[in-house]
Amino acid sequence: MAEAMIRLEAVTKTYQGAVNPAVDSLSLEIPRGEVVVLVGPSGCGKTTILKMINRLIEPTSGVIELDGRDVTSVEPHVLRRGIGYVIQQIGLFPHRTIADNIAAVPGLLGWDKGRIEQRVDELVELVGLDPEMAQRYPASLSGGQQQRAGVARALAADPPVLLMDEPFGAVDPIVRSRLQEELLRLQDRLAKTIVFVTHDIDEAIKVGDRVAILNIGGMLEQYAPPDELLREPANEFVAGFLGEDRGLKRLSLIPLTSVNLVRGPMVNVTGTVEEASSVMRQEGTEWVGVLEGDRLLGWLWNTDLDGKSTVADCVPRRFRATIQAAASMREALDAVVNTRNQAAVVLEGDRYLGMVFLDQISEGLLS
Ligand code: ADP
Ligand code: MG
Repeated sequence: MAEAMIRLEAVTKTYQGAVNPAVDSLSLEIPRGEVVVLVGPSGCGKTTILKMINRLIEPTSGVIELDGRDVTSVEPHVLRRGIGYVIQQIGLFPHRTIADNIAAVPGLLGWDKGRIEQRVDELVELVGLDPEMAQRYPASLSGGQQQRAGVARALAADPPVLLMDEPFGAVDPIVRSRLQEELLRLQDRLAKTIVFVTHDIDEAIKVGDRVAILNIGGMLEQYAPPDELLREPANEFVAGFLGEDRGLKRLSLIPLTSVNLVRGPMVNVTGTVEEASSVMRQEGTEWVGVLEGDRLLGWLWNTDLDGKSTVADCVPRRFRATIQAAASMREALDAVVNTRNQAAVVLEGDRYLGMVFLDQISEGLLS
């Protein structure tokens, strides 16, 4: 694990008047430059943990370090300059334009006007907002656009750390999925240390380099990269939280490029019917794919060849299940189970790369 950017040591928070702690002796290290997701049922203490990191609330006991320094040794307003904070309710100032919202922290830091304007333009572009939106007020933007503005605002002073509390909770699933992908693209460029809170395990698996599964009372049940969680859940709670379709979820993490594609039963369009038959015999299939150079024209049933002498005399059927090489094994599985051939064709652009069958998918799962 990379060096810790944020370190919690035996952190406990008992709210005034509460019998049980909201977070009970939690120890956790968040590596620099990674996205760590805190996931768990409502009320398990996720928001409490984030707010202790940026000192919106103070722990009852324990130590939190940011970049090697005890956070209580840093003035809260100084601390928060280095920590962007994005919340579900977005919290944009309703009576300020998007540009002024994004400019809030640089303004507090006393940046000059030109530098602020330049930074606002840069961020509007970075988060994928239309430049024209910068002069609008939050209420005239969609939920997804407001969320982007919230991310832009949190990034304004280029803090090394971002805390995101259910940031995509308020948008519909399609927009949500797009925002998740954009966050990952952004992170590729920015390499921030991000603590991302969600109650949605699918979101956790998708965005996290590492996922901390929490139980009520901030009890850490398991802390591991998504693939490891899915492969070896530490206990019943984790397994239950991951759900019955754990194997399928794992497939969505494995790139198709990690399996050995097979050439499949293939014959060139210039071949003879005898060649096609011999390929089918060798491969044990009742169908054969037809290639022209590295382009796949389609496939033929063995009966399509009856009475023909060359492959070129037959009209190939179109492969319905084609996937691009960049897809996941999960997408490959969907494609494979939905076809009669029980095979999916893998393409890069229109270039034929090979095929996947169920065998390759289960090998990929076992490896
Ligand atoms: P999560 O974000 O995981 O849903 P929270 O951190 O908001 O959980 O809350 C954890 C527990 O602490 C819950 O039982 C909640 O009711 C309680 N809690 C949260 N904030 C306060 C507060 N300001 N005062 C008292 N109890 C609180
Ligand atoms: Mg919460």
